[in-house]
Amino acid sequence: MVFPSDIRVLISIKKGDITKEDVDVIVNAANPSLLGGGGVDGAIHRAAGPELLAECRTLGGCSHGEARITKGYRLKARYVIHTPGPVYRNGKSGEREVLRNSYYNSMKLAHQNTLQSIAFPAISTGVYGYPKEEACEVAITTVLEYLRDTGYRMQVVFVLFDDENYTLYIDYLKKLRG
Ligand code: ADP
Repeated sequence: MVFPSDIRVLISIKKGDITKEDVDVIVNAANPSLLGGGGVDGAIHRAAGPELLAECRTLGGCSHGEARITKGYRLKARYVIHTPGPVYRNGKSGEREVLRNSYYNSMKLAHQNTLQSIAFPAISTGVYGYPKEEACEVAITTVLEYLRDTGYRMQVVFVLFDDENYTLYIDYLKKLRG
């Protein structure tokens, strides 16, 4: 797939903790209850404080692949977009489409709120068990396609917690740059 360089330059990759990101919105790899969990979800709720859970309780949950927005409370980020990614079973249960929807619907919500910068974790690659290499490809291509197809411009940073994901993202972006 070919993406123009004016879109590719909007993407950056970092290793670290997404809760520290100074962006308009950080994305949470949530679970459908939206009531908190482990992994990145737990870290975001701890850093944002109890007000985040209180707002999440008012939302009534969220299906896999959909997305909801809340305020960021004690985070540097002004907002949090919560999206439950797919639980990986066998790769033949629509997992790729649901993962794509999580990235696409998060981009769409950020766009609708006219946000200028967004940070994503590697959704579904922890407890939900999605193979990291394919998840990386879905993440980057969905975001690039969104920017290309809508014409909306926003800075996008992928914040990877582990070395394996970080290396995969760096290599995949290099490959796209050719
Ligand atoms: P899921 O249930 O969607 O798999 P997890 O939170 O278990 O969600 O994992 C998703 C990814 O988030 C994993 O790659 C994990 O290493 C990563 N992660 C965990 N904590 C953080 C954090 N503080 N910042 C960024 N990424 C994180």
